[in-house]
Amino acid sequence: MGEARIYRPRFEKTRALLVISLTLALSTQALSDDRTIIHPAFNVFSPEQDIALGQRAAAAVPYEYPLLNDKRVDDYLQRVGMRLVAHVPKGTYPYPYQYRCINSEQINAFALPGGFIYINRGVVENADDEAQLAAVMAHETAHVVLRHGTAQATKSAGAQVALGIVGALVGGNAAASLMAQLFSGAAVPLAFLKMSRTDESQADIVGTQILHDAGYDPQAMGDIFQKLENQKQPAEFFSDHPSPAHRIDRIDEEVDRLGRALPNATHDTTEFEIIKGYVKSLPSPPQFARGASGTASGAPAAPSATYLTFSGREFRVVYPDNWKAEAQPNGTAFLSPPGGMVEPTHGNSGVAYGVIVSTFTPQQVDGHAPSLEEATRQLVASLQRSNPHVKLMRQNDSETLGGGPALSTYLQSESPIGGREADWLTTTLRANGLFYVLCIVPQKDYNAYAGAFRAMVHSVKFSQ
Ligand SMILES: [Zn+2]
Repeated sequence: MGEARIYRPRFEKTRALLVISLTLALSTQALSDDRTIIHPAFNVFSPEQDIALGQRAAAAVPYEYPLLNDKRVDDYLQRVGMRLVAHVPKGTYPYPYQYRCINSEQINAFALPGGFIYINRGVVENADDEAQLAAVMAHETAHVVLRHGTAQATKSAGAQVALGIVGALVGGNAAASLMAQLFSGAAVPLAFLKMSRTDESQADIVGTQILHDAGYDPQAMGDIFQKLENQKQPAEFFSDHPSPAHRIDRIDEEVDRLGRALPNATHDTTEFEIIKGYVKSLPSPPQFARGASGTASGAPAAPSATYLTFSGREFRVVYPDNWKAEAQPNGTAFLSPPGGMVEPTHGNSGVAYGVIVSTFTPQQVDGHAPSLEEATRQLVASLQRSNPHVKLMRQNDSETLGGGPALSTYLQSESPIGGREADWLTTTLRANGLFYVLCIVPQKDYNAYAGAFRAMVHSVKFSQ
């Protein structure tokens, strides 16, 4: 869509109101401003679909980015985030905003549709005060408010929509078919992360407004950008987010339009200084290569896109035709590429690349059969007992397995070939216990395997 359009529709009315309600105007200041009104771009998705898509992409984030997973830091970011969220433009859909810290020293942040926002620890460590941190968070929050991720996805599919999927669009299925396409490749769809210059400018403007309305000094938006620009090492935030000088000018203009900062505007808080000190005291993040480009040396060949069917005792599942399938007497199936298994060690199945399909017998809870959540929790606990490196990254995402309700759980561990391992666990309750599919891959190769894993999980059929 074109440049941000500028409206001043309430200006005259505002003057009149000021006379009669001076006290109110002084307490909110919101009536006396001349802010830029931004209209969101064309979008085939509904706000509810933004959430569904964002959730799905967020489930893949732990595999592509190293989450800090520190409750103290995440809780603090969430508090700052909620202060901002209380001041998003009126009429904005109430997204379930969630702010989490990524263990990376680069000054960067990103937002997924539906309110899933990630802030690098580098932002906390480099901000001078809470207002500067809040500025970066407000910018990301604005991307969610303006629905830039799904607007970009809409745009990237625009040609197809124009050429012939119009039928599907009329039938209301364009969003659904786009969803399927979005997730056919990378785990976190690139369309959600690649913002246009206009998107960035809009997020700066609306972010500055949110920052101001939440009672922070809006000047902090320009200040953190200035700070980033002055750094010797260009921040990644800027390579994703072009032309800083122009952006700072535009932010300054918006600060002028908003009028002066609210009385007692926040610059810094004790809590920010404590959290900043705490984050700085944490060990440096491990060097982390994002995503995979081809396969690592010695790694198995990428999964074939042609599938065979494996028939187990009571289920069927497909697997890539360059893999092999092996069933144990207890019914557990191992599906893996040649070279994907290593010598099993204590607490480790020896699967470095591959999929385990099995059934776990959960304990009763208070004399009752456990719920799906409870049975899954028991399975994860049992995995953790046998391997203390297993970390729970994300749990209780709804899935379907074999036509029944299922849960997705994301775990992280240490790969038997070294480095970080990503484990995607899908579970569903059956008469004889908790049926599960456990997909295992070194984190660096996750992208190359994500498609095969999804195809396998979604292919499961029960024979009765
Ligand atoms: Zn941005």
